[in-house]
Amino acid sequence: MLDYLELEGDLTGEEKLVRDEARRFVDEQVKPDIGEHYEAGTFPTELIPQMGELGFYAPNLDGYGLPGLGERAYGLLMQELEAGDSGLRSMASVQGSLVIYPIHAYGSDEQKQRWLPKLGSGEAVGCFGLTEPQHGSDPSGMETRAERDADGYVLNGSKTWITNSPIADVAVVWARDVSAEGSPVRGFLVETDRDGVTTNKIEGKLSMRASVTGEIGLDDVRVPEEDVLPGVEGMKGPLSCLTQARFGIAWGVVGAARDAFEDARQYAKDRDQFGGPIARFQLQQGKLAEMATQITNAQLMAHRLADLKERGDLRHQQVSMAKRHNVRVAREVTRTAREMLGGNGITTDYSPMRHMENIETVYTYEGTDDIHTLVLGADLTGIEAFH
Ligand code: FAD
Repeated sequence: MLDYLELEGDLTGEEKLVRDEARRFVDEQVKPDIGEHYEAGTFPTELIPQMGELGFYAPNLDGYGLPGLGERAYGLLMQELEAGDSGLRSMASVQGSLVIYPIHAYGSDEQKQRWLPKLGSGEAVGCFGLTEPQHGSDPSGMETRAERDADGYVLNGSKTWITNSPIADVAVVWARDVSAEGSPVRGFLVETDRDGVTTNKIEGKLSMRASVTGEIGLDDVRVPEEDVLPGVEGMKGPLSCLTQARFGIAWGVVGAARDAFEDARQYAKDRDQFGGPIARFQLQQGKLAEMATQITNAQLMAHRLADLKERGDLRHQQVSMAKRHNVRVAREVTRTAREMLGGNGITTDYSPMRHMENIETVYTYEGTDDIHTLVLGADLTGIEAFH
C-alpha cells in the first residue's frame, strides 16, 4: 500500500488497529460485490448494522455508546471505507458527521438519549436535508419553512439530492423558522414516517451509484417542539456539520485514489504488450510517479488536518483547502489509473472507473470545487466573491 513518506510510523497502536479493521471489513465484505451493487444502483444495506457494530459512525465522538476515538483514527477509517467505494464512505459521513454530530453538539438530553445509541449502532439510519431544488451552493436562500402552531411547528418545503433519504428513519431538516424574528434557520429532527413526509429515490445517477439518494417532500408536517435542536440557530448549524463531513472527505478520497493507483500499479506489472510488462515503459512509469506524488501530497494534508483538529485549531477554510485539493487529486489519479488499464479499465471488474465516476459527485457535493475556491479567495484577500 502506498505510504511513500512513511506516515505509518506516526500512527498509534489504536489508530493502526482501527485502520486494519476497516481495511479487513472492506476487503472481505465490500470489495467482492461492490461492482454488482454499483451496476444495480443499490447500497449494501445489510452492512449498515455491521458498520455500526464496528464503530464506523462518528468514531471521533464519545458518550451514548459512541467510540470516542481521535480525529486521525476517524480520518483513517474514512480513507479505508472510500478505498472500498465513495458510497460506503458517504453513508458513514452522513450518519456520523451530518446526523449524529448535530444531535451530539446541539441536541437536548432527551434527543441524545433517544437517537444517538440507535444511530451509532446502525439500528436507525439518518439523513441530512439542506439542499433544495433551487438552492444548492447557496443554501442560505432556502425556502423550506417552519411555522409555529400550538405545541410545535408545521413544516413545508422540499429538499433534494439527500443521501439515504429513501432508507432513513430520521431526517435532520434545516428550515427557516418564519415565526421568529429574522426567520433564523433551525434544525428539526423529522421522523420519515410522519404524515406529510415523502422520500422519493432519485434514479438515473451515473455517479455514486452504490449509494441511495432521494428527495424529502414536506407537506404540512407537524413536528413537536421537543424535536427541534435547541442548541443552534442560523447557518452555523448546517455549516458546522459540513466542516466535520468535509474533514472526512479530505481523508476519504485519498483512499479512492490509493485504491485506483494500486490497481494500476499491479496491472502495469501483469499486463504484457510488445513482449513484456507495460510497467517497463517510461510513459507508464511517469504516470505512476506522478500519481504517487499527488497521493502523498494529499495524505500529508489529511494528516495535518487531523493534528489541527485534535488540538482544536482547525479553521473551516483549511478544511476547504484540503477538500478541494484532495478531491482534485483523486479526480486526476482515478482517471489516469483507468487509462493505464486500457479497455479492461472501463468495466466494473476493476475499481478505477467506478472511483472516477464517484469522484464527480464528491467534487460537487459538500461544497463544489468552485465554492471552496471562493472560500479560499475570500480568506486570502478578505474580499468575498460569491455574489
Ligand atoms: P449549483 O449550486 O446550481 O451549481 C452549479 C454550478 O455553478 C457548479 O459548478 C457550481 O460550482 C457553480 N457555482 C455556483 N455558485 C457559484 C459562484 N458563486 N461562483 C462560481 N460558480 C458558482 N445535499 C444535502 O443537503 N444532503 C445530502 O445528503 C446530499 N447528498 C448528495 C449526494 C449526491 C449524490 C449529490 C450529487 C449531491 C448531494 N447533495 C446533498 C447536494 C450537493 O451538496 C449539491 O449538489 C451541491 O451543493 C451543489 O449544488 P447544486 O447541485 O444545486 O449546484
